[in-house]
Amino acid sequence: MTEALLAQAYLALGGNVGNSRAILDRAVTLLCDGKDVRLTARSSEYLTPPWGFKYQSPFINLCIAVETSLSPRELLDHAQGVELQLGRDRAHEKRWGPRTADIDIIAYGELEVTELGLTLPHPRLFERAFVLLPLAEIAPDRVIAGRKVRDALADVDTAGIERLLPFPGM
Ligand code: ADP
Ligand code: MG
Repeated sequence: MTEALLAQAYLALGGNVGNSRAILDRAVTLLCDGKDVRLTARSSEYLTPPWGFKYQSPFINLCIAVETSLSPRELLDHAQGVELQLGRDRAHEKRWGPRTADIDIIAYGELEVTELGLTLPHPRLFERAFVLLPLAEIAPDRVIAGRKVRDALADVDTAGIERLLPFPGM
């Protein structure tokens, strides 16, 4: 694997079923195997009000930056494999309802993709304070779809979102 073939990608992770902080920590470990996907930055974790379907527990959300030799589609497959491994059951869940681990690719290099099952940059990024807030922590000056992350964050409502302190030893 040569450096030139590596792409920089941002991923958003969230969950509200089970011990979400532990589950998402495990998700980061499983995602970033250090070979095909290498972790370069990790935001704090945030406690966030549910979005979409309101009558469910609050979520834990975070963002990571990675360097990867995987293609966008391979990265999505890998992320969905991790979701499955952590007990996500897409067949029986409500859209935007409770889930153990949701992993979205927010951006992959400068790539724009509109395919069945994969849109990049992520189409709902600019509506989601629970993504923009952790993302702004690790990539405030990154421009995605023509907008700087910190500017996009200034345009959303972050009410009710709480940054969590790291666990001792994390
Ligand atoms: P959401 O992430 O919006 O809460 P889901 O996790 O249920 O919803 O994802 C629904 C579908 O979105 C997935 O099956 C996946 O194929 C598709 N998808 C499209 N673009 C992306 C992306 N950039 N990252 C992750 N999933 C994506
Ligand atoms: Mg998803």
